[in-house]
Amino acid sequence: MNYNSTRNKNTVVSASQAIAQGISDEGGLFVPQELPKYSFDDIKTLATMDYRGRAKKILADFLTDFTEEEINESVDAAYTAEKFGSENPAPISYIQCGDTNMSVLELWHGPTSAFKDMALQILPHLLTKSVKKTYNGKEAVILVATSGDTGKAALEGFKDVNGTKIMVFYPLNGVSPMQKRQMATQQGNNVNVVAIKGNFDDAQTGVKKIFTNKEIKDKLAENNMLFSSANSINWGRLLPQIVYYFSAYCDMLNEGKIKDGEKVNVAVPTGNFGNILASFYAMNMGLPVNKFICASNSNNVLTDFIKTGTYDKKRHFYTTISPSMDILVSSNLERLLYHLTDGDDKRVAKWMNQLSTEGSYTVDDDVKAKIDELFFGGFCDDENTKKTIGDLYKNENYLCDTHTAVAVNVYNQYVAQTGDKTPSIIASTASPYKFAKSVLSAVSDETLPNDEFAMVDELAAVTKCPVPAPLAALKDAQERFSFNCEVSEMPQVVLNGLSIK
Ligand SMILES: *Cc1c(COP(=O)(O)O)cnc(C)c1O
Repeated sequence: MNYNSTRNKNTVVSASQAIAQGISDEGGLFVPQELPKYSFDDIKTLATMDYRGRAKKILADFLTDFTEEEINESVDAAYTAEKFGSENPAPISYIQCGDTNMSVLELWHGPTSAFKDMALQILPHLLTKSVKKTYNGKEAVILVATSGDTGKAALEGFKDVNGTKIMVFYPLNGVSPMQKRQMATQQGNNVNVVAIKGNFDDAQTGVKKIFTNKEIKDKLAENNMLFSSANSINWGRLLPQIVYYFSAYCDMLNEGKIKDGEKVNVAVPTGNFGNILASFYAMNMGLPVNKFICASNSNNVLTDFIKTGTYDKKRHFYTTISPSMDILVSSNLERLLYHLTDGDDKRVAKWMNQLSTEGSYTVDDDVKAKIDELFFGGFCDDENTKKTIGDLYKNENYLCDTHTAVAVNVYNQYVAQTGDKTPSIIASTASPYKFAKSVLSAVSDETLPNDEFAMVDELAAVTKCPVPAPLAALKDAQERFSFNCEVSEMPQVVLNGLSIK
């Protein structure tokens, strides 16, 4: 199976090239030329397998230039009980809420307690194998700019992976205390973490400049290294996310929650549109899905897009209590547009160009009609996010994080507006303990303690929900990285970190 660029159909690359390269030269994203199709019998066969078996089957159908052994090695290394706490890395909690059924798909049982582990635990294995096939023998240097979750998940995924080095830049005062501690205490011999004196945009711009700096690229090449990216537009991050939608459906079948062939809704707290797009791919492969519920926080650019067909990034940027969704340019939407136009690269390129030059674009009626048929868009502000956490905890005794609460709230809006009682999968994307302050204030009226770990303890005392072991262990972990630098010093810091003169 080969891959095209969303902005130029004449670009055709193999799976390993798409993963090694990350993004196409003209700025487009790589998309599969066709999708494997699963009949319901195929889905029933998947249902007889465990998570790793399901992942191996689905990955093999997309990564056709990988050997079976390479796929098996990657999957077996990524989804272990040791890393995810049990044999099923993505278990479901069933919640009966009034007369609607929510199947909360918990994607946060991995090492960093956020759903990005589902992809970033396997990406390093797919990436090193891809680099080997396309740039034999080179060492991959991963640069990441992060506002919190991605950096830590990438560090955990790449730590001590042979043939890779990883360097993460985060804004000195722009991440939560828990996220900072997660990164500053990172283990591994090939990792580096640097705080920059600037905001997330400065970090991101700084990293992009290094990626395209010819002098630095040449120096890396002389040392047999090349830059690679672990961000969410890499196909190698999207593909593993398709697996858990099939897996959730199989688990629901096996547990008698749905009948053969019954459709489900999918509700996803959305930022860069990767997670929800994975469910869209699953449907196009044969998974019975009725509606995609796209949930945003106050940065509701996607809600407006789904309602009106106009994507307009010229608006106020809100810093919310669901920070991983604080995004105004949702990169993976480009892939959806490509598929909804049946691969019209010219139109997609035109819209993306309008977005960068004018700050907005409007899709045509044919695309708008397809969006209306498939998607429901809604948003939820911070106050209602907290109220949703409190209600769910009080009424159903289920504790969720701020991002998941946004999805639950918008799902409830959908049910109220449509009366649709289709069984629904809610993607739960982080442990409540990752955002202990907001979650604690939502379930308790007591004055909050000052210290992050005191809040974690207090939340555990109030709710009796277990604290994920890796988060609990941070309290006494040794800090390894306290270095910070000016934005202008980033290129030199990278070279120093790689011991290149
Ligand atoms: C990254 C992230 C999201 C957004 O996911 P996208 O794939 O970017 O839409 C939602 N919740 C959490 C906790 C995240 O870390």
